Amino acid sequence: MAVVTAFLEHSRPRPRTTRLTILARDPSVLDPATGHMLRAVVDVPASRLDLGPRGPRFYVIDFDASEESLHDPLDLAPNPEPAPGWGYHDAFAGRPDADLLTNPGFRAQNVYAIAARTLATFEAALGRPVPWAFPNSQLNLVPAAFAEANAYYSREDQALYFGYFKAPRNELVRTSLAHDIVAHETTHAILDGLRRRFDVPGMPDQAGFHEGFADVVALLSILAVPESIGALVGRPSDGSLSSDELTIEALRGSVLFTIGRQFGDAVHETRGGGLRRSIEITPTNEWLRPHNREWQEPHRRGEIFAAMVMQAFLGVWTARLAPILGPAVDRGRVVEEGARAARHLLEMCIRAIDYCPPIDFDYADFLAALLASDKEVSPDDPHQYRQAVIDAFGAFGLRASALKSVRIKLKEWPSYRSFSYAALRSDPDEAFRFVWENVGLLSVDQRFYLNIENVRPSVRVGPRGFVVAETVVDYVQELILSAAEFNAICASEAPAIKAPSSIPSGTQLKLWGGGTIIFDEFGALKYQHAKPLADWRRQAARLAYLVDRGWWDTKGRIGFSYGDSLGERFVALHASGDNPDETW
Ligand SMILES: [Zn+2]
Repeated sequence: MAVVTAFLEHSRPRPRTTRLTILARDPSVLDPATGHMLRAVVDVPASRLDLGPRGPRFYVIDFDASEESLHDPLDLAPNPEPAPGWGYHDAFAGRPDADLLTNPGFRAQNVYAIAARTLATFEAALGRPVPWAFPNSQLNLVPAAFAEANAYYSREDQALYFGYFKAPRNELVRTSLAHDIVAHETTHAILDGLRRRFDVPGMPDQAGFHEGFADVVALLSILAVPESIGALVGRPSDGSLSSDELTIEALRGSVLFTIGRQFGDAVHETRGGGLRRSIEITPTNEWLRPHNREWQEPHRRGEIFAAMVMQAFLGVWTARLAPILGPAVDRGRVVEEGARAARHLLEMCIRAIDYCPPIDFDYADFLAALLASDKEVSPDDPHQYRQAVIDAFGAFGLRASALKSVRIKLKEWPSYRSFSYAALRSDPDEAFRFVWENVGLLSVDQRFYLNIENVRPSVRVGPRGFVVAETVVDYVQELILSAAEFNAICASEAPAIKAPSSIPSGTQLKLWGGGTIIFDEFGALKYQHAKPLADWRRQAARLAYLVDRGWWDTKGRIGFSYGDSLGERFVALHASGDNPDETW
């Protein structure tokens, strides 16, 4: 039987977004005006939805492994109009707090809406669809996965799991109801899809980046919701604020900057406060010392990243408020400027990912990538976001002057005569040929295996509607050799450098290198950010770090994996904090 579809009539217009109720933070944060749980109504990209909800990118499955029970799926689109699957209904608008806490449908809606919004933010900032790291379009969301104080992303299961647990005061804490935890875990999945080599054992910044970046996305996503940031800046009944409530210090002290607040409060009842108070880290250079063990631990390292970005956020926000400061500052304006600054900074951070090297990068590389990518979409930067970022990273010892120049210096022009512009925008073989023919210009070492991992066309839109079309290509190189062979290469190419003496000479090592290339709207090369494989000083430093952390794999090798099965890596990272309670 043939299926024939004809488009003779225009179908009824379908919505592009729908508005859904979520918890603005988590059940412990109350609306100061009403005393009820603080909620937000947010725009979520519309698509045809089945029961679950189950859409093109997410599938909510409310299966509880501890209870071995499957809850009824939520029907988010029960209305037949404008078309089956498109007739959305926000069933939880205006419902009492108790309903939100106990109805399984609400936790399904909360995880779905926050995950879909997080993905939409990435796709809007990058100007293209973002794939998962596994061969499937739908990521499973399991809102009451198990009776444990944990939540994690599993690549193998293609899922985000959200646990629940009894707090010491006996109330039930659900990680699926915490905006920051849902956004944090979704970011792990997105980042894994964008840059799957970020998960390779690398230098300490790379290990910390997954955690720090997920925290940054969670914090800025919450701050970008006006209801959330509104609860931070004072009493809603009072229409104005005083200038001394709006200093960096006053705003920094806010409880809003505590990520995982309810989770932390419940787990650390005696200590109080949240898990990661990144924003309260005093700017310091201590973390840059290679032998300072505290800051070598991935979570602590991640906190530094979050601290630098949140410092930049406070800088931008207060700068935006400066012109309106006075005895009575309009509260609505304060909220609006803060939400806008959060949204903008979040997009800057996301866009920077495309300009980062795919492997072996550090926070200085991220800063360089952020500044270069932002210049493309916001050349004039009227609110001085870039300066705020430079200042914040600088306060932690990363200075713009220390950055390598990453822009291509055109000592020779690449030849495009034999290249197809269309193929360069989509075809890994064509991109490989481009690299092959320009190894000198790109400083690619031909001795090592090279693979083009991604070719991604994107259309970025800057804050003032400035449109930039680009193609992002990333390549990696890898080399497997013994420690003795590593030392032999170093002896001939970099005599002062050796593998750490604690590595036996027969040990197998895996080394990485790679780079990111950006082509402009005409298919011409405009940017490269590379981490050459033959940088033996970096390779030796990486080996020393991996040995110091004890990251040998199960076969006694170094640099291949963290020693766990790949898909459960995020469980391990979440469990590896020096604080045993800190498991998400
Ligand atoms: Zn995490």
